[in-house]
Amino acid sequence: MVATLYINGLWREASDGGSHDVQSPHDQSVVATVSQASQTDVLDAIAAARASFDSGVFTSWSFKERSELVAKIADLLERDADVIARKESDDTGKRFIEAQYDVADVVATFRHFASLGAKEHGRSVDVGIAHVSSRIVHEPLGVASLIGPWNYPLLQIAWKVAPALAAGCSFIIKPSELTPQSAIALTKIIEEAGTPKGVANLILGPGSVVGSSLISDPRVDLVSFTGGLTTGQTIMKAAATTIKKLALELGGKNPHIIFADADLDAAIDNAVTAAFLHSGQVCSAGTRLIVERSVHDRVVTEIVHRAGKIKLGGPNDESAETGPLISKSHLANVSTYVEKAIAEGATLLIGGERSDKAEHAKGWYFLPTVFDNCTSDMSCVQDESFGPIMTVEIFDTEAQAIAIGNDTVFGLSGGLWSGDSQKCARVASALRHGTIWVNDFGPYRPAAEWGGYKQSGIGRELGEHGLGEYLEIKHIWTNNAPSRSGWFKDL
Ligand code: NAD
Repeated sequence: MVATLYINGLWREASDGGSHDVQSPHDQSVVATVSQASQTDVLDAIAAARASFDSGVFTSWSFKERSELVAKIADLLERDADVIARKESDDTGKRFIEAQYDVADVVATFRHFASLGAKEHGRSVDVGIAHVSSRIVHEPLGVASLIGPWNYPLLQIAWKVAPALAAGCSFIIKPSELTPQSAIALTKIIEEAGTPKGVANLILGPGSVVGSSLISDPRVDLVSFTGGLTTGQTIMKAAATTIKKLALELGGKNPHIIFADADLDAAIDNAVTAAFLHSGQVCSAGTRLIVERSVHDRVVTEIVHRAGKIKLGGPNDESAETGPLISKSHLANVSTYVEKAIAEGATLLIGGERSDKAEHAKGWYFLPTVFDNCTSDMSCVQDESFGPIMTVEIFDTEAQAIAIGNDTVFGLSGGLWSGDSQKCARVASALRHGTIWVNDFGPYRPAAEWGGYKQSGIGRELGEHGLGEYLEIKHIWTNNAPSRSGWFKDL
């Protein structure tokens, strides 16, 4: 039996003995067997988190003490980086080196929140009355459910766990059932670093089975969720009954605009990376290419040429440039998306199907795909495929480029390429997305906020706001010279 649930400071099996095999997307081999929590386990984890929070065992620590804990976790993650990266690449199918980059980003995330937390002192407010002192204090928000996706499993959970610890919250981590191993490793490190029991808890299993209490139990104060739009809608509805705080990082359909006056060589290269990195399984993937008419043919021809040369391969294939899709069902979704695009009249230029190479036969490999002659009304342009699929639209004017780039229910990120700095500034300001890259696409840093406009989410992770999501704000007004109010007549 496996004991991979962590509840109230103890590693334990599921109370009903449930377990789950994690399969490699590369070849369907079983890479791990983990516990699958029962409803009893979920309720135990919530109870443990609530009790630890209410006991003050962690909230009584100063911000400085908690920052030291978060920094220690960063050190331990760095110590175990390669072991964790191996687990992450086994679960996700991504190359080992990509998983190593992810773990390095996770370490940087913990260091960012350690340093931010250490500076957290609230603030004084001048209320204009000499004998009144007024302070804004920041307090830990409470118990948080931290629910993550499978594409960057450890990174997305780290964006929640690091600020939750720095703020003094208690929490339940729920990684994707497809990719649980790195969350188990992180929880072991949180324990080793000396986190009080009950503060961090780990629940494993499908959201449809273990998710309901995590999002509706009245003992949970905040749900921080990263995942798909539909799940986000379910969570928002369920959270309404108890007016929970919500932090939602949802999907994206991210415009990538290339003006004719851009450095086309750099723009084309970045367009290929933006769409096909991690086989498009990136919330901020630049899969919606919007190109100025005069350079369309050159840009698209070169992208198709490059897409055809991308080398697919598994976690241990050092020559591979991108890996498989996460699962059979996701491959089916991506295939359906392609069929719909063709039915809608988009022109398939390359890809559109599974790789037929013998070495990919057991995995969920899908070829880099480019659709031309797309228009904003097509579902392939509007819907997130979360696969290696680029759609191409044409514009003639700056105003058209902006209008197309904003014609989406999402608002996570976008990029634009132009050699005209004033045009860049105008377009960056007009695009309604949470991150805009100018003459670049994709980078992010822990010090800068990340999150979506419109249906891409609520709230922000990283930056300073990322800590704020886990804090309550209290105003304490102290009158140092008490007197009668004199408002009502003294009868
Ligand atoms: P998903 O919504 O299917 O699942 C995400 C998590 O929610 C998983 O842990 C899952 O088990 C859980 N879950 C599912 N149903 C639930 C329920 N009813 N109650 C509680 N939990 C539930 O998403 P996914 O397929 O794992 O991830 C892909 C999606 O994540 C894409 O849409 C992508 O754009 C998005 N994403 C967004 C960001 C961002 O920063 N905005 C980052 C990464 C991924």
